[in-house]
Amino acid sequence: MENIKSFELDHDIMIPGFYLIGEANKVYTYDLRFKVPNGGDYLNNAAIHSIEHLFATVVRNSDIKNNVVYFGPMGCRTGFYLLLLGIELKEAKEITINCMKDCLNLDFVPGTEKIQCGNYLEHNLEDAQNEIRKYLKILVN
Ligand SMILES: [Zn+2]
Repeated sequence: MENIKSFELDHDIMIPGFYLIGEANKVYTYDLRFKVPNGGDYLNNAAIHSIEHLFATVVRNSDIKNNVVYFGPMGCRTGFYLLLLGIELKEAKEITINCMKDCLNLDFVPGTEKIQCGNYLEHNLEDAQNEIRKYLKILVN
């Protein structure tokens, strides 16, 4: 089998940040890397799950809601993938920063009723927002 594109990135030299890692048919795939790969410090399950709910809700209510193809966590718990139609790197990063800031203004995690989520008890707003704050420091430097 052929390696998929994200496996071709050198994870040994990757640092947290915001990366364009692919484009196909004007769908841009962004790597929102919160943690150093294999660094021993990973997003906990409740935090990564809540960030997924928070950011997905905010970005799908933003000015680019019709351009959002996908947002979801990496299984390695070091970050997220964001797929946007027709939004190039500079704008995508700005939008991500603004949406992450908006996530800090929410005082609840959206979509956490049992009927809305596959593991509704595994959420942690405080941990999620702490991780978002750390990520924003990386992005705005
Ligand atoms: Zn869920």
